[in-house]
Amino acid sequence: MAVVLLLAMLTVGGGGDGRGEALRLGWTSDESDAPLMRLESEANELEQADEATAAAEPIQVAISPDQMTLQVDSPTAKPNPVVPDSPLRALSGGSDASSLMVNLAGGRLGDRSGAGRSAAVASGAATFESEAAVDDALRWLAAHQHNDGGWSFRLDDPHGPCQGECKNPLKNPDDAPTPRTAATGLALLAFLGAGHTHQSGEYSETVRRGIYFLRGQQLPSDYGVDLRSTQGSMYGHGIASFALAEAFALTGDEDLRDLLEGATMYSAWAQNRQGGWGYQPGGPGDITLTAWQIMALKTAEQREISSPTDVIPRAKQYVLSLANPERNRYGYKTPEPRLSTTAIGLVLMLYFGHQPGETEMTEGLDWIAFKGPSPTDVYYDYYAMLALHHSQHFGRMDFARTLRDHLLATQATEGHEAGSWHFVDRYGSVGGRLYTTAMCALILQTPYRYVPLSGSEKPFKL
Ligand SMILES: [Zn+2]
Repeated sequence: MAVVLLLAMLTVGGGGDGRGEALRLGWTSDESDAPLMRLESEANELEQADEATAAAEPIQVAISPDQMTLQVDSPTAKPNPVVPDSPLRALSGGSDASSLMVNLAGGRLGDRSGAGRSAAVASGAATFESEAAVDDALRWLAAHQHNDGGWSFRLDDPHGPCQGECKNPLKNPDDAPTPRTAATGLALLAFLGAGHTHQSGEYSETVRRGIYFLRGQQLPSDYGVDLRSTQGSMYGHGIASFALAEAFALTGDEDLRDLLEGATMYSAWAQNRQGGWGYQPGGPGDITLTAWQIMALKTAEQREISSPTDVIPRAKQYVLSLANPERNRYGYKTPEPRLSTTAIGLVLMLYFGHQPGETEMTEGLDWIAFKGPSPTDVYYDYYAMLALHHSQHFGRMDFARTLRDHLLATQATEGHEAGSWHFVDRYGSVGGRLYTTAMCALILQTPYRYVPLSGSEKPFKL
């Protein structure tokens, strides 16, 4: 029987006994909910992942007097990378600064050029070491691009370059196709996040081939351009659209307009009656699928590709339907609050024009900052970093420092895996090394990926 590969968000019970310990340590508990890529046919996958999580060697965390400042002592810590003597030489974003400055306004793309990355280091929001880690991750991603220009979550794909040399290849026993538009979109976002576009920079050919792959995956329809790919989902469509939108926003390459307009039209058509997006067009929604579509739509707007006027307001109503009565926490498919879905909800509300100073927003952001980053759930970490960055929350630097130290200590340094990440937990185990590496690169790029939304003009008028 054919296996349908799902990128699905599974929720597990929040709260419970583990929370107190997590709070004390400043890490979030492994029990936080998070998105997940899983094989639908592998019903026991989660149980296996749970066992693996339980058996994993815990990260040794020493608590400093400041609860939010932790020192991570990982047994796999790598030596400090060589600190380059020239930040401009080391931080070579692919595009020149002038082409990246056009969108410098609230919520717009940040200065991802070498100068922008250097400025992030100078401000303390990033470090030479974290930027070297980004570059190492991009090198790994480039080495794992297929000949057709796309990427696959399956590193043991017989058509891929890895051939399973890296561990944690997301092995699929039934040889089912994977949502390659999602994998390709995620990889492209990591390159674009460091300013590498298809027009300039050392990875221009890599990015160009990735975009070429996505273009080849499009399925024209009466409702626009479908980028779900064969046996894919709205994850594939949303993430691929998001990457194309970023490429267009960064470069203004008009050759991308028709494709992105078609993808935007399809996203609007696929919105369900409640205002959210589900696994398939019109299907029951959840906050993770909805977030990818909104990010794609918002980014497309930067080059004046707009969705119908009711799409974003309806999306906001859907996100609000997932909020608790106090509107300071958000759930996955229901208002039952979760930590990771709260981070997603807060990011979306900031994009909807809400301000961090609003009581319910402050309470939600404080919760994220107080809980701190997760050592294994990179999906939560990604959105938490975005929420704290966009709101310019006072806890963002401590949160980022803790997470940055952890990622620097856990990045693989040897063999085919050098530059990649993989965490043994219920989500990383089934998302695989490609998913984890792309997300970690995006996390480290947060300071310069976007201009903070707070204190700027509202991006939406609702
Ligand atoms: Zn490999």
